[in-house]
Amino acid sequence: MDQIHIKNLEVYAYHGVFPEENVLGQRFVITATLFVDTWEAGQTDELSKSIHYGEVSKRMKHYMETHTHKLLERVAEGLAEDLLETYPLLEKVCLELKKPWAPVGLPLETVSVEIERGWHTAYIALGSNLGDKEGYLQLAVQELKNTKGCRVEQVSSFLRTAPYGYLEQDDFLNGCLRLRTWLPPLILLDRLHEIEQKANRVREIHWGPRTLDLDIIFYDNEIIDLPQLTVPHRDMQRRDFVLYPLEEIAPWARHPVFGKTVAELAEEYRAAQKTER
Ligand code: ATP
Ligand code: CA
Ligand code: CA
Repeated sequence: MDQIHIKNLEVYAYHGVFPEENVLGQRFVITATLFVDTWEAGQTDELSKSIHYGEVSKRMKHYMETHTHKLLERVAEGLAEDLLETYPLLEKVCLELKKPWAPVGLPLETVSVEIERGWHTAYIALGSNLGDKEGYLQLAVQELKNTKGCRVEQVSSFLRTAPYGYLEQDDFLNGCLRLRTWLPPLILLDRLHEIEQKANRVREIHWGPRTLDLDIIFYDNEIIDLPQLTVPHRDMQRRDFVLYPLEEIAPWARHPVFGKTVAELAEEYRAAQKTER
């Protein structure tokens, strides 16, 4: 992707672990790479189609001057968040924050922290089979819309389906949504759990009745295999209530393990149903 570079912007600010750093201050040097599609700006000569590097520089200076953090890591994270939230065209930012006069007491040239943060596309499956099901799904959509670092881009229609796994329970209402997020996968999972809690979910029987269930189906093309998180969702290809709503909003999204599109997986599911009958 196209890049805009801001190199070695000097700012006087008050970040540091030592109290004297917070009082006396020191110089910091920022290098930022902004990943943005500049094609339209290049064609039209319109600044509004790109990101104004002067404005970004002033914004970073302002952030540095109006916050006081202990760690360079925290400053870099704060700067990245601020830029990603402020500039809709910014896909990704790479930031290097240098402290050339870090009080280490040794003859070093500079210390620095470099991070890369950007927007990702995640698909979330929503389900409810207790109480005001549609209300709970709507609550989830609203909560995600209100979450910093999340933009809900598209929501499927909601589908009523028979229960799965544990059959002695009410029908489910299911849907899927596409999310743009700069939250890393495990942080997104924590946020989904918080939203489930807000919907008064109690974990009793596995696959049992619940007010709200939110699962991560895809996170970009990432394959994640951790004790607390498996992405793509392990069973999505066997579930009509995931495949059908997902097919509605993302037929061409490709499963990174099977190498098949959602439309293909849905078709295979339909074909298997027919032969079972
Ligand atoms: P299933 O995962 O088969 O749909 P479930 O949704 O009913 O079952 P839960 O009780 O909601 O299961 O979740 C149990 C745990 O599954 C969660 O606490 C979470 O750590 C883990 N988990 C693993 N992969 C995922 C994922 N892709 N999305 C959400 N949770 C996941
Ligand atoms: Ca689930
Ligand atoms: Ca779940």
